Amino acid sequence: MTCELVFLPVGNADSIVISPNDDSVVVVDLHKIPILLKWLQTKKVTNISRIYITHEHRDHFPSLEDLVTFLDNWLKRGNISTLCLPHEVYKDAKKKVISDRAKYKSLEDALLRLRQWEKKNMIKFIEATRGSNPYLQGALSISILHPGLLYAQDHLATVKGKDNEISVVLRVSYGNFVALLLADIEGTGLKECVEICQPDELSANIVKIPHHGAYPKNGDDLKHLLEKIDAELAVLSVGSTNTYGHVVPELFKVLSNQKDDEFKKLDNFVCTEATRACVNSNKERAAMGKSGLEKAQKCAGEITINAETSGKWDLKTETEHESVISEFKYPACKGKIDFGSISK
Ligand SMILES: [Zn+2]
Ligand SMILES: [Zn+2]
Ligand SMILES: [Zn+2]
Repeated sequence: MTCELVFLPVGNADSIVISPNDDSVVVVDLHKIPILLKWLQTKKVTNISRIYITHEHRDHFPSLEDLVTFLDNWLKRGNISTLCLPHEVYKDAKKKVISDRAKYKSLEDALLRLRQWEKKNMIKFIEATRGSNPYLQGALSISILHPGLLYAQDHLATVKGKDNEISVVLRVSYGNFVALLLADIEGTGLKECVEICQPDELSANIVKIPHHGAYPKNGDDLKHLLEKIDAELAVLSVGSTNTYGHVVPELFKVLSNQKDDEFKKLDNFVCTEATRACVNSNKERAAMGKSGLEKAQKCAGEITINAETSGKWDLKTETEHESVISEFKYPACKGKIDFGSISK
């Protein structure tokens, strides 16, 4: 028995599928829905048992109208049992509708549709906070580690924007195998996550690096969280053409510092797409500013991990990763990135 964990190649964004050995899947975030649909069709999946939306940003969550259209179409040929929608999604939409009903007519219809599904018991809605209704199916269990309910409420009441800080952090376990999906967690959320979690909740085989390889100002907090997780493999969902400078070389440096005894187990990291740091020297990057590559270029492409309940796992990728990176001058995943002197 194996469970697949699939990071779809959707650029600087997330769309993750967890597929145990039955006909149901769990989906985490929904960027580029057509790519997800194609994957589900190829695998003949008809049952989505749960969808988690980690936070309201467009690279993780389509508009509410697009989400409802997707669900509507899906329900014509399959099931969807539970939807985990962050509080801010519903609240922000409702606020807009109240402010101008004519302007936000399609949004109002989308909200009504969600309420109908709830009423007819077609879809169950659950809170996007720690301790909320875990997913349990055979050997697979998924729980929300972060944010805590009161931290999230406090944040929503006092901080404008910064939704990354209350990103949903998921712990996916399959027997002895564990993956931590860190969404876009950053800022105060990094410390909060370490503090609210028990050490054994954080320890994992695989980690999805937060925020597509951004390196936060409080980098030590990120390092501290990654040390607690102490994963064997780090996955980066990054888009070549992003203009944020992701993956930030500083982060690559943290990941490639394997000799550092802070990361005892980490011996590999993979990116869905090539990064500017993999094809440009330090000097060239400095001249580029934050611009990305001109064209999207695959690195590992679709990243699929086959996990066994024993805790053993292997990595298979859609592209020929080795031949792809042989064309790069400074492949970070081979430790050949040119750091030069990184200025903070
Ligand atoms: Zn985000
Ligand atoms: Zn993001
Ligand atoms: Zn690579």
